[in-house]
Amino acid sequence: MSLHFVNEYAETFSDLVSEQDIAADGQSTPRLFNQALWQQLGGEPIRAETLTARLDGEQQWPGIRPLAQKYAGHQFGHFNPYLGDGRGLLLGEVKTPTGEFYDLHLKGAGPTPYGRGGDGRAVLRSSIREYLASEAFAALGIPTTRALLLTSTEGQIQRERIEPGAMLLRVAKTHVRFGHFEHCYYRRLPQQQRQLWDYVIARQWPELNDATPTAQFRRVTERTALMIALWQAYGFIHGVMNTDNMSLLGETFDYGPYAMFDSYQPEKIFNHTDQGGRYSFTRQPGIGRWNLQRLQVALSASMDVTEFTSVIDEYEPLIQTFYFQQMRQRLGLTQVEPGLARELIAGWLQLLEAHQLDYNRSFIELERYVTESAASELSVVGEAWLRQYLDAVNEAPDIAAMQQVNPVVTLRTHLLSEVISAAEQGDDAPLTSYLEALERPFQRCLWGSHWAQPPAEEIAPGSLSC
Ligand code: AMP
Ligand code: MG
Ligand code: MG
Repeated sequence: MSLHFVNEYAETFSDLVSEQDIAADGQSTPRLFNQALWQQLGGEPIRAETLTARLDGEQQWPGIRPLAQKYAGHQFGHFNPYLGDGRGLLLGEVKTPTGEFYDLHLKGAGPTPYGRGGDGRAVLRSSIREYLASEAFAALGIPTTRALLLTSTEGQIQRERIEPGAMLLRVAKTHVRFGHFEHCYYRRLPQQQRQLWDYVIARQWPELNDATPTAQFRRVTERTALMIALWQAYGFIHGVMNTDNMSLLGETFDYGPYAMFDSYQPEKIFNHTDQGGRYSFTRQPGIGRWNLQRLQVALSASMDVTEFTSVIDEYEPLIQTFYFQQMRQRLGLTQVEPGLARELIAGWLQLLEAHQLDYNRSFIELERYVTESAASELSVVGEAWLRQYLDAVNEAPDIAAMQQVNPVVTLRTHLLSEVISAAEQGDDAPLTSYLEALERPFQRCLWGSHWAQPPAEEIAPGSLSC
């Protein structure tokens, strides 16, 4: 059985798209393929080569209807009306056997009218980073778009250096971003705006079909809060939280110059093109709110948004609640009363920051300290906190709960660089191995593995384009 395409977007939103074919940059070679995801979409088992041949034009792909989507957005605080898919195409919308809808989107599919002169290409380096991040987040339970297929192309792409090109087939519940609604607002297209809103709700949250716009907007707010709360709990810095990179559904989206903490440095700026630190780790929750406000303004074109203000006021408490729940579980404090648990979480973060301890690794060090009396830098520098902690949990934190949420293997910049370098030389063994580890991040047996190790020394933050 092939995928069941139900391509309504082109038809329904003809003013918001530019239909065009894939223009691959020479022949492609499959590098990573997510067979499980393919089958989840309703596909029969398929060879990666077969799918790849459909992307580089060697074979037809019956059912797809490729198009570039038009959108706008606030980039680093400034409105840019001229955005849209500049190098990616929505290939089609798939309905799965269980009735779910997913977009298939090909990044690096060639220049489009919305690329503002860009080359329309994606490099292998960034595409690997997106593939691994998507699958790592899916395994952690952080809402995210997914990666289906990564190919490398014959093309050589000019960035800071000449780099191998790639295409990435992405799967998302929707590619509709906050920026789509900003485009409709700016272009005075209230009807299309409302239709687009209804279309996303009908497909993804049908239970809200008859709800008020306020209730629907509340769902967007909740999902945004949940996503960002989880970023904060796992030490993830998105790096480019522009409104065109915010999915309406609160899926982590458009992985660019992201980072995850090695040592815990909440104030550090990881994206060096973000000179003001607008998108630094500690500012992410506030930016989420700011972005929701931009969405509210945009939606005023087609709905009464007066009550949205009070919905947005619910956002901060929501993010705190979600964050607290996750951190409480990460520290095994499920049985500890909330006030004391909050105090312990704050003390934990102070401890990590004061001694620049590795963020995600420290949770495992804690578990190992409790279960095996394993010594570590944490047990040395954290003596006072550990005493308070063990006291609070009666010497018995909820280890089972901790093991469900604390990953041994995470996205680490130095490991990403390592597997990318090998892949650029044609060796995919490290890439495949790291991916496999990221797909089962909670396995304690990976503790001693190469993929669980922090960097030997703090490396310079990434400053390369995507
Ligand atoms: P991003 O920073 O990835 O969110 O991209 C911002 C905008 O630039 C989007 O409209 C992209 O489609 C576009 N863009 C990014 N890279 C390229 C490229 N190499 N060629 C054409 N458009 C691009
Ligand atoms: Mg983007
Ligand atoms: Mg991007």
